[in-house]
Parts: sequence; structure tokens; C-alpha cells
Amino acid sequence: MISCFIYMQKRLHNIRTEGLENLTAELDKLRQLILTQTDSATISQADQQLALTRIVPGMTMDTWNNLSERYGFSNWLALDLDSSTYFNIANLQKIIEDLTDKSERDPLTGLYNKKAFEHKLTMELQRVERSNGQLSLAIIDLDNFKNINDTYGHNCGDEVIRTLADLLDASTRGYDHAARIGGEEFALLLPGAGPLRAKALMDRLCSTFADTFIKCTDASIQCTFSAGVASLKGRNKAKGKDLFEVADKALYQAKNAGKNQVRVTRQLVEFEYDRSTMVHSNEKQFLFSGSK
Ligand code: GH3
Ligand code: MG
Ligand code: MG
Repeated sequence: MISCFIYMQKRLHNIRTEGLENLTAELDKLRQLILTQTDSATISQADQQLALTRIVPGMTMDTWNNLSERYGFSNWLALDLDSSTYFNIANLQKIIEDLTDKSERDPLTGLYNKKAFEHKLTMELQRVERSNGQLSLAIIDLDNFKNINDTYGHNCGDEVIRTLADLLDASTRGYDHAARIGGEEFALLLPGAGPLRAKALMDRLCSTFADTFIKCTDASIQCTFSAGVASLKGRNKAKGKDLFEVADKALYQAKNAGKNQVRVTRQLVEFEYDRSTMVHSNEKQFLFSGSK
């Protein structure tokens, strides 16, 4: 990964407009040079990083922020050399938080992207194992979406995707996780929900979405989705991909049964806990009483 830094210095006088034009041209040129001179093999080596610094006398943070927004210099990190260390650390922390959030989100919908969702799933699976709780995963796929694009255009297709994303976001609790995991595929992770509760929620979302009129240019579009739900409970060795696989099968059944519906795997997915690592009753007795 290439990191670009720009250091800034505040002065009493303001930088002149023609100075700004030159600076933006120079930064743009530097960025192009970095992109063309660095091959992907170098970028993939985590230990090969480059930090570039450019001191700009006379620049203020406000001017830089305006410039950065106008010319798209968001990959330059700015430090105000005249400010306190605390100010710079707080500023850097905010930049890192914003970048982290951006890297976890799908730009079209603002929902989590697939990578972030998989991370949440791993965390929730660990929590289920610790707490002996329940967890449900729903995979959602828009029905006949290709027809929507073909009939109303790609922009209207995007509007349909955004509308479903907003519905998922608005209808879930704070500790649920909603994600866009593919072009017209979404996923919901529902901690604490068993198959019945997950099915009830998904049925409600399914009929709300089918009844929604989505406005785009002159058209008023209606679209439906199908969903597959997989649930798991208690101590088990299930991995995220196991749960995905089961939910995917349920989604396939929903599509085959005519779409615009939700299917749940009837059997709770319970992957056998590895009993060889468990303490047996005679060992327990030894541990607590010292005798077998
Ligand atoms: P099914 O009911 O079986 O799921 O059929 P479908 O038409 O929804 O599925 P198919 O896989 O045939 O087509 C999915 C379409 O989604 C094709 C692709 O062009 C479109 N698509 C994928 N990502 C986007 C996107 O970001 N925006 C828009 N507008 N369309 C997209
Ligand atoms: Mg699909
Ligand atoms: Mg589809």
C-alpha cells in the first residue's frame, strides 16, 4: 500500500490563488507518477511502503480541506505543523476512523460490504459459542432484477437496490448487521434470533418491499425479493461459510418455489461440538475432589 503524507505549515500570510493552482497540479502529477511507477507486485508486498511528504508554507487546515474536497486529494493525510501534537493525533485518528468506515461500506447503499459482513459473522459466531445463544443469517436476492435494468435502465435498477437497502437498514435492530454482499444480493445477520423470529421478520420485509412503489424518472417500479434463512444455536463448530451454504440452499428453494417468498432450513444447523476437548465427568470429579 502506498501512503501519501502532506505536511503543512501555517503562516500569518495567506497563500495566493495562483499558488494553489500550481500546488494542485503538482500533487496531481505526483499521484499519477506514483500510480504509474508502482507495479502491483510491489504494492502487494506489505513491507514495501512509501510515505511522501510535501511541506506547504502558508497553507491552513481550512484551505487544505476545501482544496482536498474540490480536487479529490482525500488520500493525502494533512498535518498542521503549527498545531499541538494532540491536535494532530486527534486529526489523524478521525481520518483513520473515516477511512476504516469507508473501507467497510458499500458506496451505493452505505450498508456493510461483503468483507466487513464476513468479519461481523465470525465475531457473532464466537459470541454464540461463548454464550450458548442463537444466531440467524438471511440471504436476500432481488427477483428478476435483470428485467428491471432492461426495462427501466441501470439507474433505476440502482434506485431499487438503494430502496431495499434503506428498508433493511430501517427495519433491523441496532445489533443486527445488514450488508450488500453482491450486485443484487444482500445479507442480514440477526444475533439472538432463532428460525421463527428470523422468518417472521423476513416475511414482513418481503411483503413490505413487494408493496413498495419505487419512483424513478417517469416510472413507478415494483420489485420483489426471495430470501433464505439459516439459524444456529449453542455450542458448535460451524464456520461462516457453513451458515452461508445452508442459507443459500434455502434461497434456492425460495426461488424454485416461485420467488417473492422466504424459506428457512427446517432443521436448526447444529454442527457437532468437538467432544474430545470437553471435560468428562470422571475428569471433573478429579479436578474438583482430587480423586477418581
Ligand atoms: P433471479 O430472480 O433468478 O435472481 O433473476 P435476476 O434477473 O435477479 O438475476 P440475474 O443473476 O440473472 O441478474 C442479476 C442482474 O443484476 C444482472 C446485473 O446486471 C444486475 N446488477 C448487478 N449489480 C448491479 C448494480 O449495482 N446495479 C444495477 N442496476 N444492476 C446490477
Ligand atoms: Mg443474484
Ligand atoms: Mg436476482
